[in-house]
Amino acid sequence: KIRRIGARRGVIMATGGFGRDIEYRMMQLPELNSDLDSTNHAGATAEALKQMMLIGANPIHLDQIQLGPWASPDEKGFGTASQFNTIATYPHGIVVDVRTGERFFNELADRKARADAIMTRRDEKGQPVYPIGFTNAAGASKAQTLDWGLKYKVISKAETLDELAAIYGMPAKALKAQVERWNEAVKSGIDKEFDRPMQEAIVLDQGPWYAVRMWPKVHYCMGGVKVNTQSEVLHLVSNKAIPGLYAAGEATGGIHGASRLGACAVAEGVVTGRNAGRNCAAAKPTELKQS
Ligand SMILES: Cc1cc2nc3c(=O)[nH]c(=O)nc-3n(C[C@H](O)[C@H](O)[C@H](O)COP(=O)(O)OP(=O)(O)OC[C@H]3O[C@@H](n4cnc5c(N)ncnc54)[C@H](O)[C@@H]3O)c2cc1C
Repeated sequence: KIRRIGARRGVIMATGGFGRDIEYRMMQLPELNSDLDSTNHAGATAEALKQMMLIGANPIHLDQIQLGPWASPDEKGFGTASQFNTIATYPHGIVVDVRTGERFFNELADRKARADAIMTRRDEKGQPVYPIGFTNAAGASKAQTLDWGLKYKVISKAETLDELAAIYGMPAKALKAQVERWNEAVKSGIDKEFDRPMQEAIVLDQGPWYAVRMWPKVHYCMGGVKVNTQSEVLHLVSNKAIPGLYAAGEATGGIHGASRLGACAVAEGVVTGRNAGRNCAAAKPTELKQS
C-alpha cells in the first residue's frame, strides 16, 4: 500500500554531517581520502545535503572539516584512545615523534592545529609515521578507557622509559632527554619549546608509562547549508528563505568557523533544533496537494 506523507508547515533537515562520505569529503578536501578513518556513524553521508542543494540551498564552509587529533590508527572509529588522549595524554603527558623521541607541537593547541601537526609526520614516501602520546599512572588515573585500551592493545604499558622506547622503536637516550626537558618546563611553568599552557601539566618522573600511537580521524563537518536566525534554509541566489525548509545541527554551516570547539556541537544541536522546531510549528500551514 502506497502512502503519501506530506508536510503542511515545513520540513526540518537534521541530517548531520558527511564525515563518512569519502567521495564527497574528497571533493571538498582531496587529502581526506580512504586512508583516513572517521569517528562518525555510517549514516554520516551527503545525500540529504545534496537534496537541499538541488532545491537551491546555499552550501557554505563545506571544506572546513574537523579531524579529531586524539584518535589512534590501532582501532576503528572513536575507540578507546580518543578519550584516553583527551583526559590523560594531552593534558598530563606529551606527544613525540617516534623517530626522534622529541615533541613537535603544543599538545593543547586547538584541534585543527594539532591534527595538522600530527599529519606532517610522514616518511619519504608520504606514509604516516605515527607519533606516540604517553603519560604515567598519575596522568592516566582519570582515563575511563585505560583498561579497555590495554585489553584491546591500543594502549601499551611500560615500566621504564627504556622499555617504552623499545616497544615503539624510539631512540631511548633522546626520549629520556626530552622527558627531562619537559620536567624542567613543568617546574618552571613555561614551555619554551611550544608555548603550551602548563596549568594541567605534571612532572613525568616515574612509571609505569601508558602510551598510544596517534593519527587523526575525520570527526565533524563545520560546513552545511546556510540558515537564518529562524533556522530557515537560505537560497543560493536570492539569499531569502526557501519556503518550508528548515535545518538544524551539523547539517547547517557557518556557526563554528574553521575549528569547532569541543563540546559545542551538542549545544548547537539543542539550540538550533529547538529554534527550528518552534519556528516550523509556528509557520502558517499550507494545503496538502492531493496526488
Ligand atoms: C564519536 C563522537 C563524539 C562526539 N562527542 C561530542 C561531544 O562530546 N560534545 C559535542 O558537543 N559534540 C560531540 N560530537 C559531535 C556531535 O555529536 C555531532 O555533531 C552531533 O551529534 C550531530 O547531531 P545531528 O543531530 O546534527 O546529526 P546526527 O546525530 O548525525 O543525526 C543525523 C541523522 O540523520 C540521518 N540521516 C542522514 N541522512 C539521511 C537521509 N538521507 N535519510 C534519512 N536519514 C538520514 C543519519 O543517519 C542520522 O541518524 C561527537 C561526535 C562523534 C562522532
